[in-house]
Amino acid sequence: MLKIVRRRLDVQFDSLQAFEFQRQVDSSLSPLINGVRREYFKRLGLGNEETEEWLLNEHRKSTVPLLLGDIILRDDDTVMYYRQQRSGGPFEAGVITRNEPSDYADYFDTLLKIVRKTTERKDLAWLSAGPDAEVSQSLANESEVRVPTAREVEASRELENEAAQRLLSQIMSASSVFLARFSQGLSQDRAVTERFVKRFEDLGIVSKDYAVLCRKTGQQILRVSSRAAIEDPSQKTFKCFICGNSVSEEMVDEIITPTEFGRKLIDHDYWLVVRVLGALESAGIANQQVHIHTGEGNLTNFFVTINDQLYLIVVANRKVTLEESYLINAHVAAYRLEHVIVIATERISVLMRHHLEKSNAGSEFDFLDSLRGVEERLMSIFSRKEKTVLKAVMSDFGTLTPVSIQDAVMEHISPPGDVLEIDARGRSTSMPRPAATVEPTPSKTESAATQRNPSPATEHPEPPPESHEAVLEMETPDADFSMMGEILEVDETMMPPV
Ligand SMILES: [Zn+2]
Repeated sequence: MLKIVRRRLDVQFDSLQAFEFQRQVDSSLSPLINGVRREYFKRLGLGNEETEEWLLNEHRKSTVPLLLGDIILRDDDTVMYYRQQRSGGPFEAGVITRNEPSDYADYFDTLLKIVRKTTERKDLAWLSAGPDAEVSQSLANESEVRVPTAREVEASRELENEAAQRLLSQIMSASSVFLARFSQGLSQDRAVTERFVKRFEDLGIVSKDYAVLCRKTGQQILRVSSRAAIEDPSQKTFKCFICGNSVSEEMVDEIITPTEFGRKLIDHDYWLVVRVLGALESAGIANQQVHIHTGEGNLTNFFVTINDQLYLIVVANRKVTLEESYLINAHVAAYRLEHVIVIATERISVLMRHHLEKSNAGSEFDFLDSLRGVEERLMSIFSRKEKTVLKAVMSDFGTLTPVSIQDAVMEHISPPGDVLEIDARGRSTSMPRPAATVEPTPSKTESAATQRNPSPATEHPEPPPESHEAVLEMETPDADFSMMGEILEVDETMMPPV
């Protein structure tokens, strides 16, 4: 899974500060868009001063939604960005990576230094884009982190089978059972029962003893831990104290007793908690990231923060009732949740789905009716959400340049052999042009710089092939951000109308 780390600074640049900030970033971080602009002016033979004036003008264009922003591509499949909207709001920076986000602390440090210097605001500090402190504190108080053992995870997969779970519950309720007798009372085949019991025994969920029963009365006359002990020659002399038969002539049955481990799994459906934690871990979410909230009837709530977004995963080992749906609503309201996943081992009715979605209009719900393939289904939900975040992150950058910048980013992070249709020339001419950057005529409010250099400013909207090459040179062919490929389709729709 991609890790998207976003940080914010409570600051608003003016266009001169934005220009100064960008100039310093250009020299220390080699950003893509401005790097290409500078390269472009260099090839056009513009002097330093003219270039700087032209670049300052870029920040003054009130038609561009971004006051500043750029992308930094790294050859380790990582994309960094920063931006500030002209309409206000915080300065935002982020790192999109498959590596450890902590590896990029330097990036945030560098940006912060430049922002502090440019704005003369020494007090500025990064703010997390995640759930606010109040929500985090309340979650920490009301929930717990559980780290199941590998053995618990394995056992939970066995108990996912409804028949296995039912059988274990029946054994539990009788505290221990004689297997042969017990099997007779069950509707399922004895062989099936024995197979489950064998699995339970292997997993340490139950333990097995052997009992010798008097054929006449059915009463237990001997209990041993293994069958071999009954066949032991020393037992030959032992006779049934009821009928006098030798032990070898009496009946042998297996006694199945749940272990402490087995009880722990069944109590309060702990196996289900373990099962979901195991599935989340397979989807790349560590147990320590999950806050579990129990004690509300049959629902267990998992709170997970993924890429700064808080998710609620509600788990129920039965049908979700209307009463329980009110509890879900209450959580959504209390924690201002936008993402809810309901996992139930029984079908969730259309009515219930509708009710939950209707009562929580600002939230997106996903429903899983069973645990079958829960890993893959969770992965696909998280990957869909990831794309939405990426779309939001990348959407503005297309307005900064007529070059199809997202395509270039996509090319940078796509796996080899994944054919990306980047015909830069074809695309840039067929794309709706962002009005701000394409507008060749300098407006009245534009500075003299544009008028002094009418020729390059007018020509700029159609960059020569060289500038595309400059962009595409930065590709890493072996990168692997396959899911970002989707953004290709979105960016064009997000371009401002011409
Ligand atoms: Zn007997």
